[in-house]
Amino acid sequence: MNIDKNPIKLDRQLLLLSIVIPCYNEEEVIHETIKRLNAVCETLDCQDVELIFVDDGSRDRTRAMLRELAVKDKRVRVIGFARNFGHQIAVTAGIDAAHGNAVVLIDADLQDPPEVINDMIEKWREGYDVVYGTRNIRLGESYFKRITARGFYRLLNRLSDVPIPLDTGDFRLMGREVTDTIRAMPERDRFVRGMVSWAGFKQIALPYQRAKRFAGESKYPLRKMLRFATDGILSFSTKPLQISISIGMFAAIAALSGIVYALYLRLFTNIWVEGWTALMIAVLFLGGVQLICVGILGEYVGRIYNETKNRPLYVVQEYVGFTEQEPLMSRSPVVNRP
Ligand code: UDP
Ligand code: MG
Repeated sequence: MNIDKNPIKLDRQLLLLSIVIPCYNEEEVIHETIKRLNAVCETLDCQDVELIFVDDGSRDRTRAMLRELAVKDKRVRVIGFARNFGHQIAVTAGIDAAHGNAVVLIDADLQDPPEVINDMIEKWREGYDVVYGTRNIRLGESYFKRITARGFYRLLNRLSDVPIPLDTGDFRLMGREVTDTIRAMPERDRFVRGMVSWAGFKQIALPYQRAKRFAGESKYPLRKMLRFATDGILSFSTKPLQISISIGMFAAIAALSGIVYALYLRLFTNIWVEGWTALMIAVLFLGGVQLICVGILGEYVGRIYNETKNRPLYVVQEYVGFTEQEPLMSRSPVVNRP
């Protein structure tokens, strides 16, 4: 009998590759990014490429530059948001609009080297549906960023109900089935890499060296990073609720022993006027624990509230360059078709 040694080996024909590039105030890097991407596109083993730039409400010249590019280069398509909706939403809009039978997500700042896309396609051809880049080395990022990122991915993995690969960003290639699955997911608090893990299919890691940002500053200040980390954890786990119950139980047991002790002092000794310190500690401790637990609960309730409002995920002001093919799908209410 002829047993295939590599049963997932498929001969996939790549007709169209969509590369999605979210941009927010990236005027300093756009030209270099397109140069590098174009150079890589020449070497790609596929029939056609579309470059979908999602301008996430930039306030600098990014939008104008992208529009110019779209006029000159027919591979370039631009989705212009009506305001800044955030990186994860920008990526979502790109996936929604993409026609390719494989979609690559890549940052605009060239921290993810576009040359790796070739290896990703190769893996996809071997039969993997998701090829995600894992960062083995992170250059040019502060110690603080590296250490918090490391801690975050490990914490997330412990809390999450689906395993989410460590040290993995959004730089990845996804096959059609996976992008269709992501398109079918309506949730608002989006943590795309987690959603891809949740989708399943055959996934494989591809280690790469994360480079320095080509120019400009990170568009992820601490505030956005914290928001992103909270989204990651709360969208993929209800463990914080369980943890708050455990903390509550612990506090209740501690309080109970305190009560027994106080009663003992009151009934059997004459030192019961003392104990003000213990009282204060108990009150403050319990108050703190309660506030934390209510806060955690509030985060989830807030998210439920947001979901029930059922607003569109993003608002597109303009689609540029989608002449021969309309965006595959749009969740935006106002769609200025080209
Ligand atoms: N970005 C975006 N919207 C935002 C913030 C960032 O589209 O609100 C884009 C940004 O232009 C870049 C990518 O997301 O292409 C990653 O952002 P950045 O490089 O600033 O993050 P870092 O690599 O520092 O985590
Ligand atoms: Mg970056």
